[in-house]
Amino acid sequence: MYFTSTRAAKNVTAAQAVAQGISEDGGLFVPSEFPEIDAETLNKLINMSYKERAKKVLSYYLNDYTEAEIDHCVECAYSGNFDNDIPAPLTSLNDNMHILELWHGPTCAFKDMALQILPHLLTTAAAKVSPDEEKVILVATSGDTGKAALEGFADVPNTKIIVFYPVDGVSAMQKLQMTTQKGSNVAVCAIEGNFDDAQTGVKNIFSDADMQKFLSESKKAFSSANSINFGRLVPQIIYYVSAYCDLVKDGRIKIGDKINVVVPTGNFGNILAAVYARNMGIPIAKFICASNRNKILTDFISTGEYNRNREFYQTTSPSMDILISSNLERMLYHLYDNDAQIISSLMKDLKEKGSYKVSDDVLAKLQKEFFGGFCDDKDCAATIKNLFDEYHYLCDTHTAVAVNVYQQYKNATGDTTPCVIASTASPYKFASAVLPALSDNGCDDEFAMLARLSEVSGTPIPAPLANLHDKKVIHTKCVNKTEMSDFIKNFLK
Ligand SMILES: *Cc1c(COP(=O)(O)O)cnc(C)c1O
Repeated sequence: MYFTSTRAAKNVTAAQAVAQGISEDGGLFVPSEFPEIDAETLNKLINMSYKERAKKVLSYYLNDYTEAEIDHCVECAYSGNFDNDIPAPLTSLNDNMHILELWHGPTCAFKDMALQILPHLLTTAAAKVSPDEEKVILVATSGDTGKAALEGFADVPNTKIIVFYPVDGVSAMQKLQMTTQKGSNVAVCAIEGNFDDAQTGVKNIFSDADMQKFLSESKKAFSSANSINFGRLVPQIIYYVSAYCDLVKDGRIKIGDKINVVVPTGNFGNILAAVYARNMGIPIAKFICASNRNKILTDFISTGEYNRNREFYQTTSPSMDILISSNLERMLYHLYDNDAQIISSLMKDLKEKGSYKVSDDVLAKLQKEFFGGFCDDKDCAATIKNLFDEYHYLCDTHTAVAVNVYQQYKNATGDTTPCVIASTASPYKFASAVLPALSDNGCDDEFAMLARLSEVSGTPIPAPLANLHDKKVIHTKCVNKTEMSDFIKNFLK
């Protein structure tokens, strides 16, 4: 197996794809084929630990990493960094709603599942591909990736990490998590604009000739910790495989039974990882793509037209406030049977006109596998309350969007296939929206809210959030999006 770009024919190894992050042509790296988990292997995986499952899944893709290297990466990432022995536990609410909790890591959101291991995958790759270069990790964040990447890369030798976040587009907790980050190799900067501005700015800097010259003169090279990096995606496949194994192990399904998955979606990375798990043989029937009021994906799945010329809304699920869903490019590449030319022209349309339309044929294929739905802030809050009243289960705003869209799907289709619902953040990370959904708010201090939420719900405050209270704010800079390059150069000098 090798990796190719979604926009040009090429062959790179897994290590090259991970080290580089994004292809020079602006395309994203995708595997040339999907390895198959055969029945015998799946049987074995069922009785394995998360770490053993992780090693197996990674070894399918990272075929130029040695077994010892993969073992090392997995051990470093998933031993002791999560508040639970099982990094991704499954909580069954009833026979067909199984919540896959992906937020037991150090930053309380699902990004940790991949970003605890990515620094190890990346430094291993860089040592193979370009041992003399220092890696500069450039991140655009809608809130959660930034902190998870900082946590993963802080003080990692031979790397620097620079995070840009939209100044008014992240929650108070998310902001505090990032602005208090320690580490001799980290920089954090707010930008005036929304997440798409940050993401587009970062993508442009990646291919900026001037910046390339500056970097190569100082023996540095960029890489990405966003889900455009294949090294972010592959660890996300693990938890879908693992959830399927757990359902079998717990006697909820029999091996071979189909499941559905519901994913609260922004950049399409998490749901794409579920598609990859299916492509490897995990029996997933439907991918339910849940959006908030920024429902560009819902519209795309229903019409085949992707159109970002629309109003951008700030919602109570800010990690999904996105209009340019990067990983959809990978999905389209697979749906178009690996036709890089068509993908290049669609992405050109997106850049120049802000929209593109897929063929009827591709739309039909998409609709066969995907259900798209959305829910606004009011329904999101009502879902948090209902879930708590009915099951005594407290979920965050992103997860609530997923649960709401799942209920819409079930009402529309009557489908009762067991469903894995990706729970992407701790409710405490978005306490200012979760608390008022449950009770009269009555406090405006963020930390008082955490305490009140704990009191109302009878659940503990995650330590990494409680501890923020005493941390000092270190990073206060805010720049215009045209000043991002200068900020980078200044930091790297
Ligand atoms: C990043 C994030 C999402 C969206 O995931 P994508 O992979 O970008 O689709 C959803 N919920 C939370 C809490 C997140 O941090």
